[in-house]
Parts: sequence; structure tokens; C-alpha cells
Amino acid sequence: MAKQVLSNAVILEGKELEVTRGYMVIRDGVIEKISEGTPPKRGTDMKRGFILPPFVNAHTHVADSVAKEVYLGLTQSQVVGPGGAKFRALSSHPRSELLSSIRTTLRDMCRTGTLAHCDFREGGAEGVEVLRKASHKAIESIIMGRPSMIEELDTVLTKSDGVGLHSLNSFDDEGLELIAKRTRQAKKLFSFHVAELASAQGEIGRALELRLSFIVHATHADEGDFVSVQKNNIPVVFCPRANSLLGVGVPPIHLALATNARFCFGTDNATVCRPNMFEELSFAWACLRRANSAAGGEEARKLLRAATIEPLRIFNLPWGPIEEGGKATFTILARGNNLVNLTDIHAGLVNRAQADNIRAIYRDGKII
Ligand SMILES: [Zn+2]
Repeated sequence: MAKQVLSNAVILEGKELEVTRGYMVIRDGVIEKISEGTPPKRGTDMKRGFILPPFVNAHTHVADSVAKEVYLGLTQSQVVGPGGAKFRALSSHPRSELLSSIRTTLRDMCRTGTLAHCDFREGGAEGVEVLRKASHKAIESIIMGRPSMIEELDTVLTKSDGVGLHSLNSFDDEGLELIAKRTRQAKKLFSFHVAELASAQGEIGRALELRLSFIVHATHADEGDFVSVQKNNIPVVFCPRANSLLGVGVPPIHLALATNARFCFGTDNATVCRPNMFEELSFAWACLRRANSAAGGEEARKLLRAATIEPLRIFNLPWGPIEEGGKATFTILARGNNLVNLTDIHAGLVNRAQADNIRAIYRDGKII
């Protein structure tokens, strides 16, 4: 593969997304060099565009894109609770329509800069197979299956990357212990929605006892919960837009930052939200600033990190941060009209960058 030089770029480098104004050399799908200044030989001019890692959407339900906006006039439980509107919608559409809707949604994710997502796929082993079949060649789909009964656990585990349950109430204690044990033995992931509703306060402790791979939501977790989550080194996946659109609250991102807890972002149900991480980030930024108006560039950097770097290890993804020797997998954003005159790069990107800023997405050195 030919050598490529991308010059005059703002590169968000390494695990901490530190800003390097300069150029990047790529050879054979790998980043050979990152340097400040101008390259010895002229490269492709990025016109001060931004090079950053691709997004990882840490929590989706892509299949329910088949029936968008079914939540209107309903409470969260009436939409996503057992037997809720989304499940009626999922079962009323034939498999061919689910496949087509998932494919369209994955293409939308790719066009909006997301190269991996972790999906809670309902419908047992068959549900896992539908998403596997609809998969997009450029996107890593991490599929968490949902056994409808404990007898289905082993089949679901064989076909999936782990188990993602609706809630702590999906099985009795014995069932949950068994799922936790089997997923650990299989070296797969285990998670469920935790403390999403105000009535579910106090669920964090049980989630930690079960040693979940990560906790989804924590919308109603308090500071003590985040201290425990941090001590146990278990990441939280916040879904700010879905929480708001379903009227369940605003996730306490400020508490995760204050306690140094690990966190990522997810767009949750596609019936509720478009799986667009640019929109999720700007909304998360507004939620954080609402809770803590002192949040600045450093906090914005951590939000961007949560959407790109933090999920890499959780989901064992085949790329890393942007660094010399690393895979040439990244997104290039053009400055456009909305990203000129930024006084803070991280806060500017988190608050203002949009999918139409994307100039190119590279995976292993190739533009996809
Ligand atoms: Zn969910």
C-alpha cells in the first residue's frame, strides 16, 4: 500500500486526545509518524481539519428503528418495558423488514462517524442471528443477546458476544447468578439497564455484586454509587438523549467526572433516537453544563474520550488511539463554517461538530 501524508491537520493524539498541529504519515494501514509542523514532502492538505478516533456507540437497540417514534403518548415502561410498544412493533414486522431497517440504521451510523456499537438484541438466539446477518462490513457489531428463559442461555451465549438483559427483574436471583457465572466462564460480556428510573434507585449495588461488564444508564445513581462504581472499575454507559426523550431524567455525568468513574455514551433505542454520536455528545455537553456550569475544555476532552477511547478495551475493538505504530483508523472532520474560530478544540468539537463535517473515515489506512 502506498505511503500517504496528511498535512496541515489538528490531530487528537493518543489515549488522552492531546492536540498536535501538524502532519501524519500512513504506510500499509499503520500510522508511521505523527509530528508537529510541516512534512518534508508536501502531503494532502487537511486545511486545518481535525483527525480524531472514530466513535464507538456503547449502547444501541438498532432493530427497533423499524418503528420510529412509537413512544409518543407513552411512558418509558409502556415503550420499552416487558410487552411494551417497541416489542409489539418488533414482533409485528417480518424478519425481512427488520433486516432492511437494521441495515439502513447501520449505514446511518457509519455515515455519522461510528465504527462500532454494542447492541442489546432482544428475541433470543434468533434475534442475535438477525443482527449478525444484517451486519455492515465497516462496522463492528458487538451483540448482547437476551435469552427469553434460562434454558436458552447457552445457545444465546454461543451465538452472541454476551448477555444484555432488560433489567435486574428479568430473572430471579438464582437466574442472574447463573448468567453472571456462565458469561464469565465464556469470557463474554454481561450487562443490563440499571437505575434508569427513579424507582430503581439502589440497583447499582446489586449490579456490582453481579460484576457486570458495564452498567447501562445509572440515570438515578447518586454520588455514593459512583464512588462504588469507580472502586469496582466498572464503566457506565450514559444515554442522555434517550433518557430525556423518554422522560426518565438526566444522567449525572458531573458525578462520574467528580468521582473519576469510567464512562461511555450510547444512543439507546433507535425507535427513540437516531444513533448519531455527534448529537449524543452535544446533548451530553448541555446536560453536563446544566449540572455544572464550571465544566470546561478538560471536561469536554473527557466526554470526547468517552465516545472514542474508553470503549475500545471494554469491547476489545481492533483499533486503538491515534498514535505512531497504531492502526490508521480515524475520522477526518473539515472545519466547515461551524468549526472555525474555536477557542477550545475539545469543547468546540463536542458542542458543534456534526456529521456533515466528515471529510473521510479511514479504516486500516483505507477510506471507507
Ligand atoms: Zn437500552
